[in-house]
Amino acid sequence: MEYIQGEINVNIGVVFFTITIINLLRYILIAGAAFLIFWIFLKDKIYFRRIQKREPKRSDYKREILYSMSTILIFGIVGVIVYYLRIHGYTKIYSDVNQYGWGYFWFSVIALIFLHDTYFYWTHRWMHHPKIFKYVHLVHHKSNNPTPFAAYSFHPLEAVVEAGIVPLAVFIMPVHTGALFIFITFSFVMNVLGHIGYEFYFKGFTKHPLTWWNNTSTHHNMHHKYVNWNFGLYFNIWDRLMGTNHPRYHEIYNEITQIPLLAKHKDTKENIGLAQEI
Ligand SMILES: [Zn+2]
Ligand SMILES: [Zn+2]
Repeated sequence: MEYIQGEINVNIGVVFFTITIINLLRYILIAGAAFLIFWIFLKDKIYFRRIQKREPKRSDYKREILYSMSTILIFGIVGVIVYYLRIHGYTKIYSDVNQYGWGYFWFSVIALIFLHDTYFYWTHRWMHHPKIFKYVHLVHHKSNNPTPFAAYSFHPLEAVVEAGIVPLAVFIMPVHTGALFIFITFSFVMNVLGHIGYEFYFKGFTKHPLTWWNNTSTHHNMHHKYVNWNFGLYFNIWDRLMGTNHPRYHEIYNEITQIPLLAKHKDTKENIGLAQEI
């Protein structure tokens, strides 16, 4: 009995360590690369696509990184709980792809993304409730002009809410461990894109018949600036249905994107922060 207890403790320690290291590496590699490439190396070249001109202070970087580290530890704890539930047979997580086939594997990744989009929109709306906001979500909104490091900048209670999609999903539907990894990585890339501070898509994207249903970096940046608009994550569907897109979203998006990203544009100083007045 003691032996089994000891073994479970060791396993859980290893599980926590593994999940935490994977999340930490993902954060450092993706948020770090986004920062180095777009905020340092290419800054002058693409400054005309900068969404807000305002420069974050040193204290903003520090807060975003420290809260992100706290979030990564909490994700490790939630990961251990999911693992514990899994080994006791309470979840629908599986590890043999042949059990449901590759078709289901990729379907489940897409389903997770749509489920997460809805989960995020409504938990986000809830966290903006005046009685909840300052206790849970204010930390994330301290970044008025977020940097890529804000991707995990959450109060510990918000980190629990954000992590909640994983236990919820694996109770509802069969999810392969690899599908879960792909989903979490995709989600993090999109999260960094939402906080990257530059707009990369083309003018007209938000109304184009093939792309209108996707969110943009401008969309989430405006959420940080204006707070009570633009709550969505991947898709611009719930914000349209609920009338919560910022009234000037499309107009501001088109102002920021009026110069094509790949145009040879030497005199960037003249065009610094086209959106600085937003
Ligand atoms: Zn918010
Ligand atoms: Zn944000």
